[in-house]
Amino acid sequence: MSAVAQVIDVNAAAETEQELTDGFHLVIDALKLNGIETIYGVPGIPITDLGRMAQAEGIRVISFRHEQNAGNAAAIAGFLTKKPGICLTVSAPGFLNGLTALANATTNCFPMILISGSSEREIVDLQQGDYEEMDQLAIAKPLCKAAFRVLHAADIGIGVARAIRAAVSGRPGGVYLDLPAKLFSQVMDADAGAKSLVKVIDAAPEQIPSKAALDRALDVLKSAKKPLIILGKGAAYAQADEEIRSFIETTGIPFLPMSMAKGLLPDTHPQSAGAARSTVLKDSDVVLLIGARLNWLLSHGKGKTWGDAPKKFIQIDIEPKEMDSNVEIVAPLVGDIGSVVAALNAGVSSGWQAPPASWINEIKARKEVNIGKMSQRLLKNSTPMDFHSALGALKQVIKERPDAILVNEGANTLDLARGVIDMYEPRKRLDVGTWGVMGIGMGYAIGAAVETGKPVLAVEGDSAFGFSGMEVETICRYELPVTIVIFNNNGIYRGLDTDPTGRDPGTTVFVKDSRYDKMMEAFGGAGYHVTTPDELKKAVDEAMNSGKPALINAVIDPAAGSESGNIGSLNPQSIVKKK
Ligand code: ADP
Ligand code: MG
Repeated sequence: MSAVAQVIDVNAAAETEQELTDGFHLVIDALKLNGIETIYGVPGIPITDLGRMAQAEGIRVISFRHEQNAGNAAAIAGFLTKKPGICLTVSAPGFLNGLTALANATTNCFPMILISGSSEREIVDLQQGDYEEMDQLAIAKPLCKAAFRVLHAADIGIGVARAIRAAVSGRPGGVYLDLPAKLFSQVMDADAGAKSLVKVIDAAPEQIPSKAALDRALDVLKSAKKPLIILGKGAAYAQADEEIRSFIETTGIPFLPMSMAKGLLPDTHPQSAGAARSTVLKDSDVVLLIGARLNWLLSHGKGKTWGDAPKKFIQIDIEPKEMDSNVEIVAPLVGDIGSVVAALNAGVSSGWQAPPASWINEIKARKEVNIGKMSQRLLKNSTPMDFHSALGALKQVIKERPDAILVNEGANTLDLARGVIDMYEPRKRLDVGTWGVMGIGMGYAIGAAVETGKPVLAVEGDSAFGFSGMEVETICRYELPVTIVIFNNNGIYRGLDTDPTGRDPGTTVFVKDSRYDKMMEAFGGAGYHVTTPDELKKAVDEAMNSGKPALINAVIDPAAGSESGNIGSLNPQSIVKKK
């Protein structure tokens, strides 16, 4: 039967007392059939009823104040669970708000599906000015992995199945699913509807590399005098934690975690080279990348950061096109990280020669110097606090609560926290990712709390927080165990900028001495205002012990930060002075 023929005239159906279903129910049933338990979104035309009905059918529906935050929550849900996170929005403006999160998810390789209601195709395509008229499918296409539109109720099952498979198979990413308003009220026979649904089988199939590729990689690794393993967030996503730990410990090779791979093995692990990052990047001779791209975050694999020592790169990645993207990969291992590392483990199990002691000792010595220098700065009890003294307190918090999830964004707040706060467990550090984007904070915090049930500590620059700050109401409404710490230095980078003409505030400053804690109190959460590391530690402990929403306004010296954090080199500055 054709899709159109299956759609039944409501009146005719009523006469025959046939059991019916409609677009609303079919979307919900298709999601449920595929194990989707949560939807993140913002209600409105035409998807208000879809959200209500999904909730009634047992799906958890978390309603946000802005679609970008809902989208970020869905994206991080995808990263944490390997199932696509679902974001549901209204048409045009709501869709566009969600699109930033969809593009960010795609860039970060997080599986996510943005489902947006849309206007009537006939009117949109003739550009006759419908309510929220926009060709959403065309706009979404270049910003995600795949984009689909469903026009007939009988195709909902296939549409949802394709979206799920596209999101999680191969390199994960964002998918857009366009559902025009008219689809939801289309009615069809309930049995035929049930039969039209598709349960996606083996959505992200294993991809096992060939023996030749494995042997090639092992040979290169064996030849190394100064080997290094770099773990990226793809390695964290893969949930192959035991295989990766076993590989690293069996080979004895030092490892460097990228930001969101921290905790895959504890940062305090003797083989961690985190505190000797510059040294290992410069001096290593063979580098094995596991789920990490040689993009700007790794200086594209060349230049000053990588020093003069010749390098050979081995790369494990599920995306064949990633190989040779920046430099030659002498041993590509295309496959899923779980399968590839398991196969490598089989190859290194007996008689593997540990790296030369000189290399291990070089790293150890560098680590000791750097850790020694850092610990001095962390203990400083300055008033007002600088970033380091405040982070010293938070480092201790995560040490005592290794299962808490740390969300982190800002400029200095991000750069310094990444180095200072040790992580102990996989997928506990969630941050600005590949784009270094601000605004993920509350979305990630909510998504992480909902998906894991674990306490969340969100360490936020005052500027970064502003992008998603209204979601403190959402956190209070759903009573989530989220503790937010705002590093309040009165502005972006620093709080001291002025307008040379004397007319307005400087472009990078905010209201001086703001009390962000009062925002949380407005919605029934706990607010704290702290000025010393001891007060900060005490407030965070109290808040996290309570398991209730809390926001701590931590006063930081407005002079403490540096321009653009540690990526100041990317920020062009004019040297031309106007008279
Ligand atoms: P980081 O920023 O931490 O270095 P990236 O986001 O740059 O990490 O890289 C992650 C890489 O991991 C991507 O190239 C992606 O294709 C890859 N990846 C994601 N999931 C898997 C998986 N299950 N198996 C193999 N590679 C994966
Ligand atoms: Mg600031």
